[in-house]
Amino acid sequence: MKAVMVDEPGAVRVLDIPKPEPGPDDVVIRVGACGICGTDIHIIDGEFPPTVYPIVIGHEFGGDVVAVGADVESFQVGDRVGVDPTLNCGACYFCQRGMGNLCERWNAVGVGHHPGGFAEYVSVPAHVVYPIPAKLSMKAAALIEPVSCVVRGFHRLQPQTGETYLTYGAGPMGLLNAQVARYNGASLVALIDINPSRLDRARNEFGFENVATRLEDLEEIAPRGFDNVIEATGVTKVAEMAIDAVKRRGKLLLFGVCPPGEKASYDAFKIYNEEISILGTMAVLNSYGPAIDIIASGAIDVDRMVTDTYTLDEFPAALQHVRSGTGLKIQVAETSK
Ligand SMILES: [Zn+2]
Ligand SMILES: [Zn+2]
Repeated sequence: MKAVMVDEPGAVRVLDIPKPEPGPDDVVIRVGACGICGTDIHIIDGEFPPTVYPIVIGHEFGGDVVAVGADVESFQVGDRVGVDPTLNCGACYFCQRGMGNLCERWNAVGVGHHPGGFAEYVSVPAHVVYPIPAKLSMKAAALIEPVSCVVRGFHRLQPQTGETYLTYGAGPMGLLNAQVARYNGASLVALIDINPSRLDRARNEFGFENVATRLEDLEEIAPRGFDNVIEATGVTKVAEMAIDAVKRRGKLLLFGVCPPGEKASYDAFKIYNEEISILGTMAVLNSYGPAIDIIASGAIDVDRMVTDTYTLDEFPAALQHVRSGTGLKIQVAETSK
């Protein structure tokens, strides 16, 4: 079968490898669609420390079951499914306390040291496989994982109905955060991006009226700042600046993946005096199921989120497209289903 292998940082190729056989507790899935994520780029560029090379990448995917292991009772051949890529150990200090996303032996499908979804077939443990409603397309199935990261962020924020939101970044993750905010009973959702064409898309295609290239331009609609500020660019300078947008007793969520080791500095007095919270959110925790339900509810505009689809053979071109910064979510699918 075809698969996208990263042999070592900088060396990515499409090659033929044997189709996986299921272990006793595994499910083999024919991949329907798999999204390209910023993390894939970091893995390819050697900027993601947990990755063990060589690895077949891809962690945002859905498909249909083609084989089940001898001990698997929950799935049958033909089931349509999505996959929570998290493979926490279940036995470490954090796993045993319900914090599997912070596992001391952290691993994830297509990210750590388990082959991923940029392949015709993938074998994963049945306990990370979720049935999906028949009405969800494969395009939608491959969006569940990024939405599940957003849901995890909202579980950290614990916002109240009627609050206001500002998202830094109007790329795929910024727009997913903004759509979940709207779904969550926001009274105002604004977005900031330095790229005006992304703001045009946020306004014209997703209906977000309040967009700007700088915070000053939003002062009129939110003179006291925002209850929830979500940093979704992964740029440390932006993570630092974003504190200026937080209302008194508001929260700043660091959702974007900033380069390890870079420092942001904050006015400690302001954090104290204005009762501001700064929160991190790491990947997926008990949030994949809710993400399925949110997508099934129609809260995410899947067709507008997925702007381009490539085949496995076209992976290098798809990668170039992602790096160009044009388009939103770019997916790989062997056939258009
Ligand atoms: Zn991802
Ligand atoms: Zn663990």
